[in-house]
Amino acid sequence: MHVTLKTICPLLIAVLVAAVANGQTQVEPKIALKMLNAQQQQFEQGIVKVADNVFTAVGFHGANTSMIVGTDGVIIVDTLMGPTSAANAFEAFRKYSDKPVKAILYTHSHGDHIGGASAFVGGERPDIYATESFGSAEGVNKAVDPVKMKRNVRQFGRKLSPSESTNRGVAPANTYDSDRGKGHLPPTVTVPRSGLKTTIAGVEIEFHIGPGETDDAMFIWLPKQKVLLAGDNFYSSFPNLYAIRGTAYRDVLSWSESVAKMAELEPHVVVPGHTMPIQGQEAATAALKDYSEAIRSVYDQTVRGINAGKGPDQLAHEVKLPDHLKDKPYLIEFYGSVPHAVRAIYAGLLGWYDGNPTTLNPLAPKLKAQKIADLAGGTEKLTEQMESALAKQDFQWALELADHVKWLDDGDLKLARKVKITALRGLAAREYNAPNRNYYLSYANELESGQLSEIWF
Ligand SMILES: [Zn+2]
Repeated sequence: MHVTLKTICPLLIAVLVAAVANGQTQVEPKIALKMLNAQQQQFEQGIVKVADNVFTAVGFHGANTSMIVGTDGVIIVDTLMGPTSAANAFEAFRKYSDKPVKAILYTHSHGDHIGGASAFVGGERPDIYATESFGSAEGVNKAVDPVKMKRNVRQFGRKLSPSESTNRGVAPANTYDSDRGKGHLPPTVTVPRSGLKTTIAGVEIEFHIGPGETDDAMFIWLPKQKVLLAGDNFYSSFPNLYAIRGTAYRDVLSWSESVAKMAELEPHVVVPGHTMPIQGQEAATAALKDYSEAIRSVYDQTVRGINAGKGPDQLAHEVKLPDHLKDKPYLIEFYGSVPHAVRAIYAGLLGWYDGNPTTLNPLAPKLKAQKIADLAGGTEKLTEQMESALAKQDFQWALELADHVKWLDDGDLKLARKVKITALRGLAAREYNAPNRNYYLSYANELESGQLSEIWF
């Protein structure tokens, strides 16, 4: 099948623009759903022909895989998460070329790009290219894998019911994941720090080191076709400068610089690691320039705020995308979120401490809850305030009060839990940021089913 890029209808654009104008990722539930449904077009399954000899498979799993056809073979860029989805994509590619696979290129080491390589390899032994630091992405915080796994399930909504599922911001929901990593083949050729220019199967190809979402990332440039394969440093959403599943600091400044380098190439097509390719020199180059500028702007605003003495809570509410960028379709916060990026930059540059001596040794949560209850006029009054916040659909405040009530010896824990569940679902309905939405819903379900221990509540 061959799909062309669809444009979002002007009416919907108007809705999107109106919705994001307030700078938050929460809007009316109907609009949030409409926006996420529109974003669905970005990963509708099909093969997109991006040049005479370059094809991208979108929507066969969460990420994209591409095939470059050469004289005596083909080159595969990224291999999806497991061999099942990779085999489906490869079968679709085979309508365009049945030449043997000469090389596989990994743009970076995230599991959704490297787990299906075996499906592309028959009897051949293709060269497999990756950067020198390949695999460094997830290694640093391995010690906390048990919690990362739990949070990963929530961020991607892996256990949500079909009626709760929308998508993952830059990927469809309900991807086939049970063969995760089963087709991974390790790299055999190391791309040096200085990059590499070479010819594979008669195709001129350039590897550029481009740290961003991961330190081990590179982007691929085909100078003849002017096709840029960006990996996960570019996709149609504000970038995930921080992932709520829990990640070490992603070097935001390098990310912006890597995308700026891509823009300098003035590609005729940019093929993202996820979502539809952007075709046409003007559109592709403008998208990359805007993307780089957006990241840089969030970084610069945060740094300026830090140096003015502001803390992360304040900055997370103050930093916004510049007016000329905030409505660009590839910068809407479906996946990454500006406030989360701000907090990540703060912590990445200065660690957890916000510089305010009040926060050097804050009260223990239980003691604080008792004092808040006293302030409210007792536990009963605090509980009333919690319920009243929920009734007014002041969901965030209801959550914060529920978290106090849960610590109180005389608090109605059952009620607080119920309020938290309802408030989480209320917030979820308003979210067009998919990770937030999925996390709220997943957490609500876990609380409701009783599978979360007291610590988590
Ligand atoms: Zn990815």
